[in-house]
Amino acid sequence: MEAENLIIIGSGPAGYTAALYASRESLGPLMISGFSKGGQLMLTTMVDNYPGFPDGILGPELMEQMRKQAEKFGTRFIDDNVSSVDLSKRPFEVKVGEKSHFAKALIISTGASSNWMGLDSEQRLIGHGVSSCATCDAFFYKGKNVIVVGGGDSAMEEAQFLTKFANSVTIVHRRDSFRASKIMQDKTLSNPKIKVVWNSAIEEVLGKDKVEGVRLNDLKTGQKTEMKIDGVFVAIGHSPNTKFLNGQLKLDQKGYIVTEEEVKTDVEGVFAAGDVVDHIYRQAVTAAGSGAKAAIEARSYLYQITLV
Ligand code: NAP
Repeated sequence: MEAENLIIIGSGPAGYTAALYASRESLGPLMISGFSKGGQLMLTTMVDNYPGFPDGILGPELMEQMRKQAEKFGTRFIDDNVSSVDLSKRPFEVKVGEKSHFAKALIISTGASSNWMGLDSEQRLIGHGVSSCATCDAFFYKGKNVIVVGGGDSAMEEAQFLTKFANSVTIVHRRDSFRASKIMQDKTLSNPKIKVVWNSAIEEVLGKDKVEGVRLNDLKTGQKTEMKIDGVFVAIGHSPNTKFLNGQLKLDQKGYIVTEEEVKTDVEGVFAAGDVVDHIYRQAVTAAGSGAKAAIEARSYLYQITLV
């Protein structure tokens, strides 16, 4: 099988922008977009802070438009997950199921996924009252009472958004202070619909087929209490989707790809962009920007190796 110039793994704003730039450079990239193509923006509703859309744009629509734009200039797509890669070979090998694809350069833009508390009851009730996306599911909690777990900016944002629908929002946090920015904390704590249960963790989500309550553990006193609740929104951070790399690229302690000059990994010819690298900004526009940089670097690399 002839090697592709460039394979892009992952299809959020970083991947699609990399594909757009690479296809405009006539590199004819192949994108392996993942089962749930489009990434985290597929789970959002209105995006108001992506430049160029003064009236906002729905996350899934923005992703569809980005995909169309990349396709128009010649990007090809495989809507499947990558099972493994071999970065010790040249060209690099990328496996999708049992099928191997080969490429002279790679861009990894597989993003990050929400963390879960790790309780059996939580996993069993995902989609039945347990969620990690208020923007997707808040609508179903009109007039109901919900919990948000976490103390970072995401938890504050989710809690505030939920107050537009829910009757009450209780933030359950494991410590006695939030790590969220002051402005987000102030906004949250001054919202009359939001209260906070400090120093506590959910020990079990209660309910057979749907969430009916939680058992809380007071981490200071060890006291257990049950609380009736209709929904649990988990907002305890994200983890990068880097397991398929199987340790072949340098990662930081949390598993994010370590890059030099923003997009160069420690394996020459392999570039990375978007939330799989960035755990700080995590914005559609910053991911798109890094996708463009990765494509420009990949083009320079391909140009160099064809001259050698
Ligand atoms: P984060 O800042 O890492 O916060 C995660 C929160 O979850 C922390 O409060 C942490 O508690 C708690 N937590 C972690 N594991 C837990 C567990 N197993 N059980 C219970 N609680 C747990 O994550 P994030 O809120 O998703 O934010 C990530 C980054 O995106 C941050 O840089 C943030 O500023 C940024 N962000 C910005 C905005 C915005 O500006 N609009 C919105 C969202 C996110 P501890 O505090 O005790 O560690």
